[in-house]
Amino acid sequence: RAKSAGKSGYVVFDAGMHEQALSRLQLETDLRLAFERAEFRVHYQPIVELASGQLVGAEALVRWQHPRRGLLAPAEFLPLAEETGLIMELDAWVLRQACGQLAQWRQAYPALSGLSINVNVDERQMVSPGIVDEVLSLLRKHRLPPDCLRLEVTETAFRGGRGQAEQRLMALKALGVGLVVDDFGTGYSSLESFAASPFDALKMDQVFVRDIQTNARHRAIARTINSFAGELDLTLTAEGIETTGQRDALREIGCRFGQGFLFARALPPEQFEQMLSGTEGIVG
Ligand code: C2E
Ligand code: MG
Ligand code: MG
Ligand code: MG
Repeated sequence: RAKSAGKSGYVVFDAGMHEQALSRLQLETDLRLAFERAEFRVHYQPIVELASGQLVGAEALVRWQHPRRGLLAPAEFLPLAEETGLIMELDAWVLRQACGQLAQWRQAYPALSGLSINVNVDERQMVSPGIVDEVLSLLRKHRLPPDCLRLEVTETAFRGGRGQAEQRLMALKALGVGLVVDDFGTGYSSLESFAASPFDALKMDQVFVRDIQTNARHRAIARTINSFAGELDLTLTAEGIETTGQRDALREIGCRFGQGFLFARALPPEQFEQMLSGTEGIVG
């Protein structure tokens, strides 16, 4: 959308575009430096059993403690991390961090040995050959049972074919690691692709949760996702539960697990640990 500067023939950018380009460039520079400066953080959002409200695990969610802009959510920097390829390094760092943290908590709270951690993995990571060895060496290093680590990928990572991502997923499955479809219900995967799928669990996208009480069709879809999960022996977790009404509606359709601001936001490790110290046991 560069404006042509009339007869001079020069192309100039308006001030807004210039500023945008500058701030993007600045963000990219900052993003590269963020690793050296150790500015990334992992926060942990509790996952609970809906019937009892009991803690079962947590989802690791990345944050960026920016030197000038404060704590940034993934939406503010993940797109750029994806564009620049830095997402690979970032995801690998989050994975290492989460495994180390889980091992530490399991040691500190032996009664909570059933605690699991979900880690988001970008689709590109699934194509990279290093992921399987990386996961295996982390499990060994921290002496973690494989099933306490659950990798979340979006539907697009698995198309039911024999692509590289599929091979990686199969290899991870063979390690015993949990595989979760994130944002289920919003992607393009065919139902047929689930016939030979390595996944153990689904995360129902928050769009179905948001107006589950007011939108009969969304409620019907939520119910269908629940029976789909049940028929295929997949554990179902609903995302984005903010009200008791939403929780009750989900319980009513039979959804077993949930996550959302109603229970807790993603917490810094110290705060999550405070919750752990008040927890007596972990349900299966
Ligand atoms: P996601 O994996 O679907 O994670 C759930 C998002 O929903 C998180 O946003 C979480 O904070 C938010 N959420 C949880 N409960 C509620 C609720 O009750 N209401 C609402 N409105 N939102 C809720 P967050 O942390 O901003 O992360 C956004 C997305 O960024 C994640 O969506 C995930 O796709 C991506 N992401 C986060 N961390 C990582 C990472 O380490 N690696 C990769 N590749 N992606 C990540
Ligand atoms: Mg997720
Ligand atoms: Mg999600
Ligand atoms: Mg998402």
